[in-house]
Amino acid sequence: MSLNGKVAIITGSTSGIGLGIAKALAQEGCNLVLNGLGDKDSIEKEKRDLSEKNNIQAIYHPADMTKPDQIQDMIETAKAEFGKIDILVNNAGVQYVAPITEMPAEKWDQIIAIDLSSAFHVIHHGLPHLRQNGWGRIINIASAHALVASPFKAPYVAAKHGLLGLTKAVALEAARDNVTCNAICPGYVRTPLVEGQIRDQAVARGISEDEVIQNVILGAQPTKKFIEADEIAAMAVFLCGKNSQGINGAAISMDGGWTAQ
Ligand code: NAD
Repeated sequence: MSLNGKVAIITGSTSGIGLGIAKALAQEGCNLVLNGLGDKDSIEKEKRDLSEKNNIQAIYHPADMTKPDQIQDMIETAKAEFGKIDILVNNAGVQYVAPITEMPAEKWDQIIAIDLSSAFHVIHHGLPHLRQNGWGRIINIASAHALVASPFKAPYVAAKHGLLGLTKAVALEAARDNVTCNAICPGYVRTPLVEGQIRDQAVARGISEDEVIQNVILGAQPTKKFIEADEIAAMAVFLCGKNSQGINGAAISMDGGWTAQ
């Protein structure tokens, strides 16, 4: 258990990739601050299961990632509860697909707030605690869309490119403090976020969901296979491990070759 006693805050960890990372860090002995939207009872059950199975402590904080004061409260609660914070995982994210001329301005604001600005607020309030420990890891879950664009996803592409810029700037500022900051850039992972896109695209294009998966969703991904949330979680664990201190400010592609093209 390489992360015994460490404390990780994972935004958007009630579902998909974030929940996968929470499970993998818990298996390594890490205490958790879970966050995200969802049904109260299922979140409570997930929190209990994670704690009991892995003999760790987990708390849940309901901070809405569009609300900076709630993000600050999440960081302060984590510090008060555990006495320290070691790992920040900025994972919460949403998507909305539309041509830019039809993109509702409120979707732009929401995606920039959740997919980009929340990471700023988490790091702004959280980094001093990592520095205090003399060790820390910041992992930003970006996307292949941090490196390349697709049409109809302007706010998401802009937010993820911004998140990669934030990653590099923080990596430079924290480099002498034994704190690294990296971005994982996944291709398509079959989570609720992508399931919604499969359904919407099938209706919009008048084709089957299978055709959407093969031709639209995995069209750019040379392996024609989804990336598994567990693979991303294993990379997050590696980035927190002892052999990763030289990896700093990196964009780590896990996209089946998408951005090699
Ligand atoms: P998901 O929908 O399964 O999970 C998103 C999480 O964010 C959930 O826990 C949700 O509750 C939380 N969230 C949403 N709005 C929030 C808010 N206002 N406040 C707090 N939490 C909020 O999606 P996912 O696919 O697991 O996405 C996780 C991250 O991975 C996102 O940043 C996404 O952009 C990124 N990503 C996903 C894929 C993919 O193919 N699924 C690919 C590349 C990057």
